[in-house]
Amino acid sequence: MSRTDISSAGRWRWLSGGRQRRQEEIILMLLCALSIPSILPFGIYRLLQGSWASAAVDMALVSGMFAVIVHVWRTGRYQIASLGVTIFYSLGMLTTVYLRGVSLVYWVYPTMIAAYFVLRPTVALAINSVGLVALVGILVSQLAVVNLMTIVVTIGLVNLFAYIFAYRTGLQNKELHTAVELDFLTGIGNRRALERKLAEHAQERRPHLESSLLLLDLDHFKQVNDQYGHAAGDKVLIRLAELMRRHTRSSDRLFRYGGEEFAIIASGAGLSAAARLAEGLRAAVASATLLESHPITISIGVTYMNKEHTPAEWLAQADKMLYAAKQDGRNAVHVAYGSDYAESL
Ligand code: GH3
Ligand code: MG
Ligand code: MG
Repeated sequence: MSRTDISSAGRWRWLSGGRQRRQEEIILMLLCALSIPSILPFGIYRLLQGSWASAAVDMALVSGMFAVIVHVWRTGRYQIASLGVTIFYSLGMLTTVYLRGVSLVYWVYPTMIAAYFVLRPTVALAINSVGLVALVGILVSQLAVVNLMTIVVTIGLVNLFAYIFAYRTGLQNKELHTAVELDFLTGIGNRRALERKLAEHAQERRPHLESSLLLLDLDHFKQVNDQYGHAAGDKVLIRLAELMRRHTRSSDRLFRYGGEEFAIIASGAGLSAAARLAEGLRAAVASATLLESHPITISIGVTYMNKEHTPAEWLAQADKMLYAAKQDGRNAVHVAYGSDYAESL
């Protein structure tokens, strides 16, 4: 890890209040935190002026932002809060223009751009389009057509540019994500993807959503390489990944986490369902022809992803079961039932 990596990781940890947070949570909290000192002085000014309605709108916005920060900080839930903030803010902005006239229209620009930071670009565009129509409704009787058109065109352009920028950034993120987390040989997730998914499962707040982890390892794979060459070995790895795809559900996540070692996170699978999946996979590989004229088998270790344990412990446990399956003569499945878990951790 480079020096910059360490310092930026530290910065994120400080912002996260000790636990790992998603970028979306932090951006939403930052936007709200920046809005408070921007609006509060105006709210106080309106209060001193005796403009109660405007002051009430400003204070409602400030309190709303504060509530969102506290909510996201404590719960980590940002999706509904993001939508709520955008709608709430847009209504506040429209009310302000309605109450105080066109001179307050400058607030529309940052408000609309902020939507692209916290929502999907199409959702932000849809909300802002409705906002723009409402704004025209408010201003149409106050302005000459050319002035109204100037506002509409500039707000339209700001939205168009923000949409294109957000959309392009989203595509780049997706490409980066693919490049960083895919195993280029088999097209399934790599070790980095596995570790991220495991960490996500450890943070998963729905206690009823149970999942299991399977570690698979090809038996005597070195012999395949030695006898048939590395290219033939690669072909076996590709075919095994395809077979795994066919024999798992779309909600199961597949990874190649080492040379000839694979992992599956079986979402929604308790230990017995995961054991059946593993046995099915083992049998399917044993009866398939992954390499002409050479039998290929796999051994599998299975563990339940118990929330009382960490991802490192799940991996260690599944690996221990995999080792036991190898000791058992290979082409075997070993499952960590309760007592195995307790014994080894
Ligand atoms: P075991 O049954 O105990 O797992 O025996 P094994 O031979 O499969 O295990 P070992 O760890 O001794 O050897 C793993 C082999 O996997 C060694 C290496 O040549 C091969 N391997 C690792 N990554 C790749 C790869 O990307 N392509 C190919 N073709 N072979 C690989
Ligand atoms: Mg092996
Ligand atoms: Mg191995």
